[in-house]
Amino acid sequence: MELSKRIRGLTGGGSDGWDVFYRARDMVTAGTPVVELTIGEHDIRTAPAILEAMQAAAQGGHTGYAIVPGVSELRRAVAARLQARTGVPTTMDNVLITPGGQAGLFAAHHAACDEGDRALFIDPYYATYPGTIRGVGAVPVPVGARPRDGFQPQADTIDAAAEGAASLMINTPNNPTGVVYTRETLDGIAEVCKRRDLWLISDEVYDTQVWEGDHISPRALPGMAERTLVVGSMSKSHAMTGSRVGWVVGPERAIAHLITLATHTTYGVPGYIQDAAVFALGQGEALEEQVAAPFRRRRDAARALLAGQNVAKLVPSGGAMYLMLDMRATGLTGEEFANRLLDEEHIAVMPGESFGRAAAGHVRVAMTVADEAFEAALKRVLDFAAKSVR
Ligand code: PMP
Repeated sequence: MELSKRIRGLTGGGSDGWDVFYRARDMVTAGTPVVELTIGEHDIRTAPAILEAMQAAAQGGHTGYAIVPGVSELRRAVAARLQARTGVPTTMDNVLITPGGQAGLFAAHHAACDEGDRALFIDPYYATYPGTIRGVGAVPVPVGARPRDGFQPQADTIDAAAEGAASLMINTPNNPTGVVYTRETLDGIAEVCKRRDLWLISDEVYDTQVWEGDHISPRALPGMAERTLVVGSMSKSHAMTGSRVGWVVGPERAIAHLITLATHTTYGVPGYIQDAAVFALGQGEALEEQVAAPFRRRRDAARALLAGQNVAKLVPSGGAMYLMLDMRATGLTGEEFANRLLDEEHIAVMPGESFGRAAAGHVRVAMTVADEAFEAALKRVLDFAAKSVR
């Protein structure tokens, strides 16, 4: 009995791009300490006050099935947060609560794409994107953003790939590059979406991690609210990765269908987790800034270190918990550099090639270890880069 082509084809065959990460984990298991600058996981845990709210909700009895679209308080809190940030009138009917942003990305593509539709996304990209698109039966089509454009996607490149496409997925602040899309970039994207009648799936899970410039949600641009599905999450903003709570925000007619989808897939998100999310959002920006602060500090330190050498070039980044370093001056591919760094220095970073073709010759450094250890590791990365120049 054969398994479905769809499930067998989710990764598209070949490597899933995480080889260096798995190799680092194997080394750690075998007893070799490795500085892991790989995945996007905070080095702090969820704040004790949030956990207390979660426990109080669970002990107070919110352990049964929660209402499928999400509890009204949370849907209202998310609506208010997005409205405050974008100025776009938003009510709870524009909000579906999902088990994390990842489930939101999957749901959004379900809403936007029919079987066989082309679904565009920007390369370099977060590793799950192509599989998420294949999961709904659509065809993933990467659209390259170029290093020489500072990885800001160009409207004409997107337009050239848009024939017959149903959707475009973007991510700002961006994983893996750390780039924050400018207004000009987003205006160009919005124009293409309107001209080509595309749904825009806007992954904004890093919207609280902005170090330079402003996060602009494309939902706020003229004529875009009716064709944009914003995916958000408590994972990065509140160090709640394990709680699996996020959302899709979009037009009411889309959310109504997405609620039906949730009925037939997730059947909602645990009530005590949602209550904790209501509490966390109620703490306002102060808590979000507290969670983002270590990355801001480490990025400032990294910039100072990078200024003292000229082999690794920092991609002009403005947000998210990653630095993208252009290593092409070493003459090595990102994969070669990352593998040698792991073997010789026991430091794990992600090769740019893990995120598509556009970031070849780069490596992504997650700023996810304590300040001193991070700075010490980055110094070693830069020394190793200098030694590696051929
Ligand atoms: N989008 C991007 C760009 C991410 O980096 C991640 C997590 N690393 C997600 C979505 C999904 O996050 P979650 O499901 O934890 O909300």
